[in-house]
Amino acid sequence: MGTLTGVTAADTTSTFSASTSQPTDPGCSPGYVGIVATYDPRKSKFALCAPAEWEVVAPVVRATVARLEGFADRGLRPYLTAMTRLSVWALREGLPLVPASLLSDPVIEAHVATLDANAGTFRSQLRRLAAANGVALGSTAVGYARPGYSAPYTLDEVRALLLFASSLTNEIRRRQLTGLLLLGAACGFSRADLRGVCNGDVHHHSGVRYVRTRNRCTPILEDFSADFDAYLSWCGDEPFVGVKPGANITDRMVSWVGERAGLPRLSADRLRAFFVVEHLRRNTPLPSLLAYCGFASLEALDPYLAFLPASTPLCGSCEEGSL
Ligand SMILES: [Zn+2]
Repeated sequence: MGTLTGVTAADTTSTFSASTSQPTDPGCSPGYVGIVATYDPRKSKFALCAPAEWEVVAPVVRATVARLEGFADRGLRPYLTAMTRLSVWALREGLPLVPASLLSDPVIEAHVATLDANAGTFRSQLRRLAAANGVALGSTAVGYARPGYSAPYTLDEVRALLLFASSLTNEIRRRQLTGLLLLGAACGFSRADLRGVCNGDVHHHSGVRYVRTRNRCTPILEDFSADFDAYLSWCGDEPFVGVKPGANITDRMVSWVGERAGLPRLSADRLRAFFVVEHLRRNTPLPSLLAYCGFASLEALDPYLAFLPASTPLCGSCEEGSL
């Protein structure tokens, strides 16, 4: 299941490197000059990233900033800083390190929403870089609200989080964290959907088990059927996650998981992304998937499409040989 995210950091780097070697794309040729060639954030006063992270993001930072025209070295430095910060953040979030994704509206907005200061300046610098790299952006400001745009967990990562949750000795934490993981990964519930969901909301349609939330009901992803059985047998009648599980409770759960070796940081958005991408990968009919997710239109699926692994061309496994 390691391919579920579709693109790992290493893959995206190599994908990007591969694209730079295309002779039809002269703007990305690596003949950098001046500060673009010598820039190194590891030497700046405040470390923007770990040395190993710079090795990964340097190609895309240099290539995108090199496309700005009419700047002296001093003028380019803020763009190099902004692009480095964006790329390092994207690397840590597991997002594709390619200009078309990095400099897209949703990714810029998601990144800018994480900045404490100078968000407006960084935003305008990144939008200028997008224009220089031919990435089309919306003409209207979309604000700083962070969209639910996150790389999906792999099944192994979800399993690791479930295992961690099951090891918690505090029963309330064990119930709430397991509930969040199951409702997020197996039902695609967003933070707003979790409120008050309990044992009584699990029901059947045509022999398939569903969980209902305020305005829709969603089938449990079969991979987690046994996990749900086990959970329902001990979780009792209390709401799985809580009655008011908005940002506060999920933020508290993020701190319960913290930073542990072998365990990804907890993210409700990444759980939901897992659910969406898993259904896309299994060719779930799109009208059904929209209903499961509570999406009003197909456009809501756009951010997830980048994480679909490419399928093998049919002829790659054709036993009849070429015609
Ligand atoms: Zn139902």
